[in-house]
Amino acid sequence: MKVVVLTGAGISAESGIPTFRGKDGLWNKYDPTQLATPEAFNKDPKLVWEWYDWRRQLIAKAQPNEGHRILAQMENSIKDFWLITQNVDGLHQRAGSKKVIELHGNIWKVRCLKCREEYFEYKAPLEEIPPKCKYCGGLLRPGVVWFGESLPTDALEKAFKLSEEADIFLVVGTSAQVYPAAELPFIAKRSGAKLIEVNPEETPVTPYCDVSLRESASTGLKKAWEEIRKYTA
Ligand code: NAD
Ligand code: ZN
Repeated sequence: MKVVVLTGAGISAESGIPTFRGKDGLWNKYDPTQLATPEAFNKDPKLVWEWYDWRRQLIAKAQPNEGHRILAQMENSIKDFWLITQNVDGLHQRAGSKKVIELHGNIWKVRCLKCREEYFEYKAPLEEIPPKCKYCGGLLRPGVVWFGESLPTDALEKAFKLSEEADIFLVVGTSAQVYPAAELPFIAKRSGAKLIEVNPEETPVTPYCDVSLRESASTGLKKAWEEIRKYTA
């Protein structure tokens, strides 16, 4: 029995990390969907880095919540279990998850636009904005996937394959509006998986679900696990 989970920003909401969409999803007067783009970075790397520096500080102070922990426990008790995340905050790994596929990169990674070197930089706040490459002094960018950019091929291929093979596909805290990640639940469903959703709001995935839980990640995931136990019993 293969269980595959797709998470989005909603699973980290209870850790105090704002989502992009939904009522608490804003930073000052800027729209994240207008800031997390290559165009925004080309126009004003300092502004984009200030926003990332703010998010990195928030994430550094945050703790994984019950939802992250339940998924780490699921991995321990289900042999064929995989977690695909759109999140860049690394909270799944901090909660103990190991089989994590990061579709949109990681906020602690930086990439040099000059020498192309990529490395982890955990300083928050950063000493200099925009930060410079420790190897060549070139301009760094965040090691995340922005709107309009393609996803890392390896991670995406693995995610497609797992979604096709899944017996149970669980979607948690994603608005299912960002492609190609939003495609994965539909691929799973078409390939015969049971589809379970945890989200306080309805999403485009909701009508296709076998079980849809209108709950926050922590309470919804407890119930989702009971459902999964029924299928795996
Ligand atoms: P989104 O902001 O588009 O949607 C968030 C979803 O979470 C909404 O459907 C909302 O109803 C739901 N939600 C809100 N509170 C919840 C809770 N307590 N429990 C469960 N669900 C809850 O997020 P997305 O679909 O992940 O897409 C946005 C993109 O933004 C992603 O690509 C991601 O990389 C990025 N992002 C990441 C983080 C992070 O790493 N924590 C935070 C914000 C945005
Ligand atoms: Zn460099």
